[in-house]
Amino acid sequence: MRYVWATATHVGQVRSGNEDSVHPPDGGAGPGPVLTLVADGMGGHVGGEVASRVAVEAAVAAEGSPEERVVAANRAVVARVLAEPALSGMGTTLTVAEIDEHGKLSIGHVGDSRAYLFRDGALTRITTDHSVVAELLEAGRITEEEVHTHPQRSLVTRALGMARWIDVDTFSEQLRPGDRVLLCSDGLTTMLSDDEVGAALRTCESAEEAAQALVDLANQAGGHDNITVVVVDAAGQ
Ligand code: MN
Repeated sequence: MRYVWATATHVGQVRSGNEDSVHPPDGGAGPGPVLTLVADGMGGHVGGEVASRVAVEAAVAAEGSPEERVVAANRAVVARVLAEPALSGMGTTLTVAEIDEHGKLSIGHVGDSRAYLFRDGALTRITTDHSVVAELLEAGRITEEEVHTHPQRSLVTRALGMARWIDVDTFSEQLRPGDRVLLCSDGLTTMLSDDEVGAALRTCESAEEAAQALVDLANQAGGHDNITVVVVDAAGQ
């Protein structure tokens, strides 16, 4: 399979720093494997930036499956807190997606950043959010509308950096030519509904155009948080 990918990250309209980290830093094209990551740091201004950067660097440097990369990234964030107690309390989400040369997509995931599959014009969420509002929604205690206004909507229930042991969700999917994979931080999905994201992906021909359009739309919708997206197009042989 041949892939074309693009990444975009933006501080948004409200925050003073960007606590998201992304890999790869730039767009590109090639036969795979393609390794993409999105991390959304938390724990104060400095802590959030450090946590997401340490996690992404460690996950990229690690060997093995996406799940093993998330485990290695967690170890690195925990070690950094032990070495630098002033950073205590910092943590990060991490979503790792690796696509091999045959189109097999493998994901390791912790937190409320997301991976989506866009196929035949339809957008499907692959990952499950580890967040307070996702659990309340699952339990039927709040509605889909209340998710967007709930006071605890940004609280995650699972993050890297909290403990030595971490529970990583894994997903896999066989990609087909024409498929598009989207990774994003919650700065995109708290500003735009899945329908709006799907509509933008339908109108954008290239991965680069799609990544930029999504960031622009989230900013136009208010840009309340840092916005990060990775778009990978499976372009056939
Ligand atoms: Mn965020």
